[in-house]
Amino acid sequence: MDARLLIVSNRLPVTVKVEDGHPTVSRSVGGLTTGLQTPHDRSGGLWIGWPGDLEGITPVMRADVDRQLAELRTVPICLTDREVTLFYEQISNAVLWPICHDRIDRLPLHVEGWDVYESVNARFADAVAEHHRPGDVVWVHDYQLLRVPALVRERIPDARIGFFLHVPFPNPEIFFTLPNRHWLVEGMMGADLVGFHTRRYHGHFRAALRRLFSVEADSNGIARWRSRRVKLGVFPISIDAADFASRAAAREVGLKTREYQTSSLRLLVGIDRLDYSKGIPRRLVALKRLFMLHPEWREKVRLIQVAVPTRDRVDAYRRFRREVSSLVGQINGEFATPTWTPIQYIHRSIPSDVLLALYRAADVMLVTPLRDGMNLVAKEFPASRIDDDGVLILSEFAGAADELTDAILVNPYDVDGTAEAIHRALTMEVTERRHRMRRLRHTVQEYDVHRWAESFLGELEGMRNEE
Ligand code: UDP
Repeated sequence: MDARLLIVSNRLPVTVKVEDGHPTVSRSVGGLTTGLQTPHDRSGGLWIGWPGDLEGITPVMRADVDRQLAELRTVPICLTDREVTLFYEQISNAVLWPICHDRIDRLPLHVEGWDVYESVNARFADAVAEHHRPGDVVWVHDYQLLRVPALVRERIPDARIGFFLHVPFPNPEIFFTLPNRHWLVEGMMGADLVGFHTRRYHGHFRAALRRLFSVEADSNGIARWRSRRVKLGVFPISIDAADFASRAAAREVGLKTREYQTSSLRLLVGIDRLDYSKGIPRRLVALKRLFMLHPEWREKVRLIQVAVPTRDRVDAYRRFRREVSSLVGQINGEFATPTWTPIQYIHRSIPSDVLLALYRAADVMLVTPLRDGMNLVAKEFPASRIDDDGVLILSEFAGAADELTDAILVNPYDVDGTAEAIHRALTMEVTERRHRMRRLRHTVQEYDVHRWAESFLGELEGMRNEE
């Protein structure tokens, strides 16, 4: 793709810090950044987004920060405290997130802030309009910016716009609980190409479009929308599998892996943000049920559960954090012996060498979300298993389950079923383990995050050629 790319995402892929009185702006690493960095670098384009809280940056430092941001070809959209509260914490994280993850029970009783959601989306669109040159391609990301495609279209009618939704698009019955459902779909339909992770989310969106606007997409996913054509497509995001494999092979990671494996216990590992969509409480109860249904595993297995703190300023998350800690305490209290504790609970983020060593050391990796757009942990685990061993237990409600069919798939709501799946994983013959792991590794190596970005952008470019 040779056009210049304008990437628009809520968060810029940067970390702004002050060290010895001097501000520094560095690139941050992570799923989306890995996939988009290459097209961003190659096309010489811009990345538009929020640089995060600039607390501690004085007006004098600000010029320096702006210069460093410009060097990285990023355009900052700074949010006021009120915008962070209403646009980001309230509407994005306390309303749209639970709706997209089927959790209407987690919604606040009274919702305010849609006007601020619109005005912040409009500021992103203004920034696109300010920097857009003829021939540029605009790629907007995720649920915080659902209105941006239509708002860019108003400002630049012939812009080439792609939109990708990184979370599930929910079943229409759940989506329709949003009073402004028409307006949100209209926002997304401002794009030329709208991408989803799976056929299921794509199908949900098509059903919403049909029921709200009587618009039907054809068998190629093309819908006629107000004198334009909009294509709806499926593009499952992935990871840089080769990079995980090479980092997992590092000597220090190998040493740490052996450290975690030295005990005579079989190791179960869970690694998640501490989000209610990740299914942590039912996973813990499944472990308890394992000890009841198969008492032979008592004192023989241990779960290391990493729960990365997240969204602490949203009420539902504060309550959830207490719920999980108390469940860990109850289960440990009930089953621990003087020489063994079943759950080792780590409530903070971990450095990448520890993450890789946990992936490598795990006998069984537990990825059991109640709903997850994709779940990258499920892909990072096989990518890191350079020994072709280890078993992945994966929720059928994670987007990744569509591709990772060599995992043991579970329904996380079926707690006894999950307990039995853990038993099965722990007793699986080594030949079957290796066979499954090799196939999982092949899957994540074949279609990596670079191919994901290329296929989305290729499709968007292809639409231009068809005109
Ligand atoms: N991760 C991290 N720090 C940690 C533990 C995990 O950055 O301490 C990473 C992990 O490697 C993965 C991401 O967080 O890339 C989680 O992505 P996923 O799609 O599984 O879930 P999300 O948090 O995006 O809902």
